[in-house]
Amino acid sequence: MSLSTTSLPHHPLSGYGWDAGFAAAFAPYAEAGLAPGRIVRVDRGRCDLVVADARPGPRPADGADHPGAGVRTVQADTALVTTGDPLNIMCTGDWAAVDLDQGYVRALLPRRTAFVRSTSSKRSEGQILAANVDHAVIALSLAVELDLGRVERFLALAWESGAQPLVVLTKSDLVTDPVTLAHLVADTRTAAPGVEVLAVSAATGEGVDVLAALLAAGTAVLLGQSGAGKSTLANVLLGEEAQTVQAARDVDGKGRHTTTTRNLLRLPSGGVLIDTPGLRGVGLWDAGSGLAQAFAEIETLAGECRFQDCAHLQEPGCAVLAAVDDGTLPERRLDSYRKLARENERLAARTDARLRAEMRREWKQRQALGRHMMERKGRTVRRP
Ligand code: GDP
Ligand code: ZN
Repeated sequence: MSLSTTSLPHHPLSGYGWDAGFAAAFAPYAEAGLAPGRIVRVDRGRCDLVVADARPGPRPADGADHPGAGVRTVQADTALVTTGDPLNIMCTGDWAAVDLDQGYVRALLPRRTAFVRSTSSKRSEGQILAANVDHAVIALSLAVELDLGRVERFLALAWESGAQPLVVLTKSDLVTDPVTLAHLVADTRTAAPGVEVLAVSAATGEGVDVLAALLAAGTAVLLGQSGAGKSTLANVLLGEEAQTVQAARDVDGKGRHTTTTRNLLRLPSGGVLIDTPGLRGVGLWDAGSGLAQAFAEIETLAGECRFQDCAHLQEPGCAVLAAVDDGTLPERRLDSYRKLARENERLAARTDARLRAEMRREWKQRQALGRHMMERKGRTVRRP
């Protein structure tokens, strides 16, 4: 039986983001007898996935009207799809083709979007954090002074992932004057062209319904600094009851109930939330195209500069500097753009340095091997 678009809303996994596009990508695996599953947690060598529950018999009593009805969580081995490329390692949010009998993940479906982090200092290597995310919710606390540079940094990262960003100004209950609040929202909008900006309060519930409605379709992640109010907001969106029930319903390979926390949860009003610890405080990672989108108006202006390679520093006929002069482009925006672009270049250079070091090592090994071969042939080797 093939899945038609109209039958998809009734697919048990549609609440987890399964749609006609993924179904089409999955078709060859379905023919091979594999089942689709979405990864809700990754542990070294193994992962937890939600799959459609096709087992016969009565449903568990607590599952009848639960958002998780018709699905179950299984564990599977990931060894078969593990590759050397760190960006190819499966992660929360991936759709996989699972061999349920053998307990193996056989393949990953192509990702629509991906969050990648530049890892800490030593190895500047990308690390995949979340896949197939539609909404990147950037949380910014109104309890502290608004840092628009920070918004821009997260926006670049969000755009780079392919997800649609959305800015929420959290703890709006702390701003009692509505005029001040309106100004703060308006200021944030200047730093977030093409992006929805919303004030919310987990304490009073202000804006939470609007946010829930915006997230009702697709998969969301919460980004933002520690203390921005992400966990509190996640709890309000999930409803604490739903969270405990979803955690308790996880069943391991032997049919035991487990209490492992999932990193991917269904929202009661629709949509899915991915909340992995690693996503907190992500850094830039080759956010070149993300930067261009986060600063779309600067990119547009740059197209009007006299010189194609204009650095917008002091060149004649620079449209960017002209816009700063006439007040249409805030100088702060340009500064922030330069700062993030420099940071991104440094990261890219660090990656290059790592690659160069690897190449040098390889070259030295080959040289040593070459010397060894020459010596065996009885010739002397001249060292430089
Ligand atoms: P996270 O680090 O981003 O997950 O932030 P938390 O959710 O842990 O919140 C940080 C602090 O902000 C906690 O002390 C929360 O109680 C507080 N907080 C979160 N949401 C709100 C809110 O809507 N209003 C107020 N007044 N405080 C909040
Ligand atoms: Zn210019």
